[in-house]
Amino acid sequence: LRPFDVAAIRAEFPILQQQLEGKPLVYLDNAATTQKPMAVIQAITDYYSQCNANVHRGAHQLADEATRRFELSRDKVASFIQAYDRCEVIWTSGTTEAINIVANGIAQRLKPGDEVLVTEMEHHANLVTWQQACLRSGASLKIVPIHDNGALDTEAFAALLSANTRLVALPHVSNALGTVNPIQDLTRLAKAHGALVLIDGAQGIAHGGVNVREIGCDFYAFSGHKVFGPTGVGVLWGKAEVLQDWPVWQTGGEMIAQVTYHSATWGELPNRLEAGTPNIAGVIGLAAAIDWLTQFDVSAIQAHERALLAYATTLATDFEGIQLVGTAADKIGVFSFVLQGSHPADVGFLLDKQGIAIRTGSHCAQPLMQRLGLPGTARASFSVYNTLEEVDALFRALKKTQRMLA
Ligand code: PMP
Repeated sequence: LRPFDVAAIRAEFPILQQQLEGKPLVYLDNAATTQKPMAVIQAITDYYSQCNANVHRGAHQLADEATRRFELSRDKVASFIQAYDRCEVIWTSGTTEAINIVANGIAQRLKPGDEVLVTEMEHHANLVTWQQACLRSGASLKIVPIHDNGALDTEAFAALLSANTRLVALPHVSNALGTVNPIQDLTRLAKAHGALVLIDGAQGIAHGGVNVREIGCDFYAFSGHKVFGPTGVGVLWGKAEVLQDWPVWQTGGEMIAQVTYHSATWGELPNRLEAGTPNIAGVIGLAAAIDWLTQFDVSAIQAHERALLAYATTLATDFEGIQLVGTAADKIGVFSFVLQGSHPADVGFLLDKQGIAIRTGSHCAQPLMQRLGLPGTARASFSVYNTLEEVDALFRALKKTQRMLA
């Protein structure tokens, strides 16, 4: 393992070396997407400059090498999340597609009387997909409430489970509030009722330490770009016994066994859920990102990110007129707030003018904002390369912003 040295880590991210508005860029929008270390950029460049070819079907050395790197990437992801088998790792375009594949697999089995549970803190990807699957099938969508501090109401969760619950779909970590859900306990409860469990891991994955066996879920979905990898690639992990008898997701090349003009049979996992030429460079880049991240001790990563959040929270207690949104006891990565009397969009605009990149708005969670009675929030989100000095810079800029908006 490599020592966790933030200065050395920062030096590996070319994008962080630049200035914005004449100041060093302070990038605090990591929940939207993370930056990429040189190792990832290099792996993608190497693939295109050394062995670009289509995978699996080539009869030449470049194709063999591309296939080797592509399938090695699957092994790396499988071991990163402790999958039971490499065939359970399905490449997707991201979390959104992964969730849609699960919906496609389950939808035909949903019927009136069945129930799907999601939470009030859902990202649209894990809400709208299930809402529409329920509307099509006649199943009911049940929404597990949250407490005002953004923690999930686990008693209400337990009370909503029943013999009719077919699927529970939960975020590992909320992108809008930073709440870390006790997914292992919740999964155990849901499994006791015979439900399938899908974890939306888009925000959980970057902090490391995901072990799907320990969680006990049936599916875990994540995006490469939230974990230092490229956009356009992601993962659906699912238990082989569930995935293998699902209806296929897309049809075309790669996913078939035998084809005649009037019939076709499907291949085995993982191919049966991976139609067409995949995002080869993306997959290789994602594996490079995992190699990069796993150089570090997971507890060092999490301790650093928690320290940044704790520092921001302390500075906020001395800051007149800031309202924190999401104050659950278990929280990581996300510092969501409202400056009283100002619109989050104005705050984001004025911070940007001071070299600080955050996100503002509803964070793809409009119903959650309605639940909280807010037009949106300003959200600073932290990653491994952020520093306490950057948190100071955020608060200095916020002071100035507050004066400008007064
Ligand atoms: N779920 C959560 C909790 C997210 O934060 C995101 C990305 N903002 C998604 C799902 C969707 O991920 P993607 O857009 O990469 O498919």
